[in-house]
Amino acid sequence: MGLESSEFGFLLIVLAIVLASSQSEEGFGYQDNSLGPGQWGCLATNFSTCRTGTQQSPINIKTRDAIDDCSLGKLRFHFSHSAGTLTSQKYLYRIGLDGDAENTVIIDGMEFRLVQFHFHHPSEHFIDGKKFELEAHLVYRAMDNSSRMAVVAQMYKKGEENSLLAQVLDMKNNVRTLLDLREFNLGQEYFRYIGSLTTPPCTQGVTWTILIKNKTASKQQIKDLKQCLGGRNARPLQRTNRREVYMYTFYQNFLAKY
Ligand SMILES: [Zn+2]
Repeated sequence: MGLESSEFGFLLIVLAIVLASSQSEEGFGYQDNSLGPGQWGCLATNFSTCRTGTQQSPINIKTRDAIDDCSLGKLRFHFSHSAGTLTSQKYLYRIGLDGDAENTVIIDGMEFRLVQFHFHHPSEHFIDGKKFELEAHLVYRAMDNSSRMAVVAQMYKKGEENSLLAQVLDMKNNVRTLLDLREFNLGQEYFRYIGSLTTPPCTQGVTWTILIKNKTASKQQIKDLKQCLGGRNARPLQRTNRREVYMYTFYQNFLAKY
């Protein structure tokens, strides 16, 4: 017995829903299938760097191999009260900030402005082979109108509730909300390397700052974020291809004075 056209139509709709639930709205996914990280470079012509790039992110940072460099200097963050809008969908929990929001950081003497931040579960970067429950990415753009980008990564492990996450988890999708970003309260010791965006188009030349000090998020906060993401959204580790990782710590800076 053949399928009636209405039944066939219904099957197509079911198939479309099944496919849609395993990919992001941008058309890529994280499962080991035709939309998975191994295929990103083939999904669109402007995604080819995901396959051919030699400075890709994330990477496993080996503390022992990181080069102490006191000339990198302390991170000078500025956070303020800012209006942000949540985009919550499959594999994405992103807070976009208003263009006039005053959240800046100085990196290599250049001023960058925070454009958006989002979350990955589990962490994308590893430190000494260890991954974390969550990794927040603060995406900055240079204020000199160059297209230079810098991403600051904060790792979270299970523990005390986090006040910034509490604000962020209270947000409603597509609703502009006032946030106190001072609660990011980020540390100043970090690893530094040059990599890429960890999602297509995997653009290279991104200055990465991986904060050394972890923060905590409660079991419930981690559970809530996982539920919003609807699945793991961590790109697998990429080859370092002999890239150097630098490190700025107070300890080493203290030694340099004597
Ligand atoms: Zn990210």
